[in-house]
This record gives sequence, structure tokens and C-alpha cells, in this order.
Amino acid sequence: MKTKDNLKITTKIKASERFLILSHVRPDADAAGSVLGLGLALKNLGKQVQMVLSDGAANFSYLPGSEGITRSPEGDVDMIVVVDCSDPHRVGEGLSGYGQPDLVVDHHKTNVQFGKFNVVEPDQVATTAILFDHMPTWGLGFDLGIATCLLSGIVGDTIGFRTPNVNSEVMRKTAALMDLGANLTDIYQEELVLKTFESLRYWGAGLGRLERKNGLVWTSLTLADRQEIGYAGNDDADLVNVLSSVKGTAIALIFVEQPQDKVKVSWRAKPGLDVSEIAFKFGGGGHAAAAGADFEGSLESIKQIVIQATQKLLE
Ligand code: 5GP
Ligand code: MN
Repeated sequence: MKTKDNLKITTKIKASERFLILSHVRPDADAAGSVLGLGLALKNLGKQVQMVLSDGAANFSYLPGSEGITRSPEGDVDMIVVVDCSDPHRVGEGLSGYGQPDLVVDHHKTNVQFGKFNVVEPDQVATTAILFDHMPTWGLGFDLGIATCLLSGIVGDTIGFRTPNVNSEVMRKTAALMDLGANLTDIYQEELVLKTFESLRYWGAGLGRLERKNGLVWTSLTLADRQEIGYAGNDDADLVNVLSSVKGTAIALIFVEQPQDKVKVSWRAKPGLDVSEIAFKFGGGGHAAAAGADFEGSLESIKQIVIQATQKLLE
């Protein structure tokens, strides 16, 4: 980022009293961790901060400050910051009526640079890792709660340091956050190990329909699965990460049926392949190794279209 921009961002933060911080629908740990990490640091300076996730933060009750996250903003604000979100539509309803964000902080390759200032660093493993770098230069400090939120984003987006973009720099940041008191074991347990009984039964439904063709592995989860099992959590309960663990998989795909004839698709690619482009082409986005998009249509028709298009990528 240009130093001049960084100075302007710092000045804007200093001059603002009322902040609105938002991230994407269906929040993951990096979305929630970024909203909270930045939000708590601003609160420590005595600023008024609204932290907004359109779908709420029910999955992140273990993160410090998560009880302060709301689903929609209220009243006037001086500065709008969108974190970990590559396009304005993906914020959900939270931005409506609020105009262009002052600052966008993100690591998605497909980011459309929709802020007045855009700190977009696609080489970073998580948006919280970008915040870790820039917050001190913006005059924002860390404490135990903030460190926990920032480390949470790194652990989540690297699936526990498993993605190929993890390097020694990421480990140094992790160590620094642990030195601030963040408990890696607790974060790891909460984010990646502990599952509800229902999510494992939901995985079972998806795993029972696992299919494979030429390096592509996929399955689907239906609304009927959710209902029969009583699963109320996030879309695929992270089953797609299990699919990509099948030996010989180049790309793993999951189709999650949604109400009103909609389907959420997630791609995971082995190192060297880029699924962000195909997701972007279908109106979604993401990273080379992990991307997603929302579709309208029946589960079967979307499966056909997406499997065919993804197979082309492998040819
Ligand atoms: P997931 O498949 O786990 O939902 O998401 C994988 C990655 O792609 C995440 O970084 C997520 O933010 C991004 N992503 C998923 N769905 C969408 C989408 O509909 N639009 C955009 N722009 N990005 C998405
Ligand atoms: Mn992220």
C-alpha cells in the first residue's frame, strides 16, 4: 500500500468518532475475527463502534466481544470499514443506505476495490494477518482479546496452518499473537476440532453421496438432510475441507441446497490450480485454493453446470 494512503487512513481514523465495521454474509472466523479485532481496538481508544454481520455471530460466541456484534447498523457514522469481503453485495443488507465504504481491508484475489481506500493484499493468509501488520501504523494497539480475534482469523483461513500460503512470516505473527496471550489450543479446538453431533450426521449424509471423476470429487447436502438431522449450523459444516483430503483430488466441490431454489457452491483446489476465476465468473469469488458462489436454480441443474465448467478447468 502507498505510504500516502496509509497516512490518510490514519488521519481519517483519528478524526472519526463513530465507526461502522462490517464483513460478509455467512461469516467465517476471519470475518468475525477481523470485525472484532479492529472493533475492539477502536473501542479501546474510546471510539463508538458498531460491529455488524448481517447473519449474526452465533458461531463465534468464543470470541471476545462477539456479544456486541449486531445484524444491522443504526444512525449516522463517520467512518465505514469493510473487512474480509471482496464485493459490496457480499456484505448483505448492512451497507444499504450507507454509501461507499471509506476503507476496505481484504485478502481476496477477486476483490473489486470498492472502498475509497483499499488495503487488498492477496498474498496474506487472512484479513486478520493484514490487520496485524497495519493496525499499529494506524495508531491501534493490541490486547489479549484483540490477539485472540486476530489469531482466530489466521487459524480459520489456513485451516490450522494447512494451506500452502503458510510461511515463516505467518508463524512469526502467530507467535507474536500467542505472546500477547492468545491461546492457540483453545482457538484450534473451537474452530477446527469440536463439532456438534448433528454436524457429523450431516457430514454422513453428504459423505454417503460422494462422487468422483477425473480428479474432481464432489457431493451435495440437501434441505431434507438438514431437516431430518436437525442440523441448524452453517452451510456445509466445513465438509468441503474433508472432501479435499481425498488422495488424488485436484478439485473438491460441494453443493449445498438453500431455500427458494438456491444453491451455495464451494470449491477447494490443490496447490497450482486457481478456482477463484471460475467462482468469480459465476458471480462469486475467493482465493486460488478456496472459492464460493451462490446460484439460482435446482440442485441437479446447478450440479451439472458447475461440474462441467470445473472439469474444463482441469483439461
Ligand atoms: P466458502 O466456500 O468456504 O464459503 O468460501 C471460500 C472462500 O471464497 C472464502 O474466502 C469466501 O470468502 C469466498 N466466497 C465464498 N462464497 C463467495 C461468494 O458468493 N462471493 C464472494 N465474493 N466470495 C465468496
Ligand atoms: Mn478471509
